[in-house]
Amino acid sequence: MNGRRLGTSNRRKSKKFGDGRFCAEQYCQTQLSIYNKKKYCFLHTPVSYPRVRGHVLKGDE
Ligand SMILES: [Zn+2]
Repeated sequence: MNGRRLGTSNRRKSKKFGDGRFCAEQYCQTQLSIYNKKKYCFLHTPVSYPRVRGHVLKGDE
């Protein structure tokens, strides 16, 4: 019974360099994309565009 192979369909690719980089924000554990050259995740990346008016982050409600 060799029809099934375990461990081939649910594996994460981790062969690229830069794997395991995390957001530079101390309390953030968001893993950065290997294609993301920035130091911060999308949430902590300094934005150059104005924030949406009336949309203030309030944490956990
Ligand atoms: Zn972050």
